Amino acid sequence: MTGTKLRRIATEEAFAIPEQMDTMRKLVDNYSGYDPDVALWKVMLSPNPVHQRLLDLEDERLKIMDENGVDMHVLSLTSTGVQMFDADTGTALATLANDRLAEVIARHPTRLAGIGSFAPQDPARAAKEIERAMTELKLNGMVVNSHTNGEYLSDQKFWPILEALEANDAALYIHPRSPSPGMIGPFIDEHLEHAIMGYTMETGIHALKMIMAGVFDRFPKLKIVLGHMGENIGFHLYRTDYMYTVTKDMMNRVPLKKLPSDYFKENVVITTSGVNWSPALKASIEILSADNIMFAIDYPYQETDEAVDWLNNAPISEEDRAKIFHKNAERVFHIKPA
Ligand code: MN
Repeated sequence: MTGTKLRRIATEEAFAIPEQMDTMRKLVDNYSGYDPDVALWKVMLSPNPVHQRLLDLEDERLKIMDENGVDMHVLSLTSTGVQMFDADTGTALATLANDRLAEVIARHPTRLAGIGSFAPQDPARAAKEIERAMTELKLNGMVVNSHTNGEYLSDQKFWPILEALEANDAALYIHPRSPSPGMIGPFIDEHLEHAIMGYTMETGIHALKMIMAGVFDRFPKLKIVLGHMGENIGFHLYRTDYMYTVTKDMMNRVPLKKLPSDYFKENVVITTSGVNWSPALKASIEILSADNIMFAIDYPYQETDEAVDWLNNAPISEEDRAKIFHKNAERVFHIKPA
């Protein structure tokens, strides 16, 4: 086995707090009809190993990390975070979750790091919480679970959030949820709305909308993080650039200073979460460079041993393996080198 002595930082590792579970249970109990995120929450709220593992931060989690040589989890409040609640509830729960995160990190500073939550439902208060999370709580970045009530961060009403992220040097992890109400229709019949395909399309479109809306011309230092080997956007960049160039006048597009692929390479970092697959990794290294890829497991939804064994043995250089296992995460999430 190669790479066994490397520090391993896993960057998309989920947790929950009981108050999030309780608030979600009220929402689920009062919901009629089919909503793909509500359907999944019904499963997550029932007694099962995933439910227990989300709530556990210091016992079984650390044991599984030890058994598999994982040094650190970068924690994030599990999808859909606080984004399905009203603005007041969502803001209060994000604050509480961030406080809990800071407390548990203080008890295990070499084992746990964390990216904070905010409620996009109230952009002004979200911006304040981002500043508090990064400066007072010293969290490592922030997370959003794609759309909020069908709206995307490409919409200028959310740009105070992006301004706060850039000002506080907080990378934003855009974590998946199911496609928004305007997009979900054709996914339902064959149940493609979850991780099988819906998540990656929803989240990839979110990132591409931000690029095409000129977000990164307005906020050139903003970094976003995409899981699941870049939510497929990297593999499409040639055609995106080509079609942007030949249709920008005809379609009256927002004029960009650079090509879409330039923003993807300069403002986006991807992770391997849930994609323990060497062909996709090798293509991503070629397209984006090994400086823009970080290791992730997607605990507790996917298996730690599979992810670690795969990247230990993936056919890449030892230099690239070190970047992906820990060096890039140390840079992007302000984690002290070991
Ligand atoms: Mn995940």
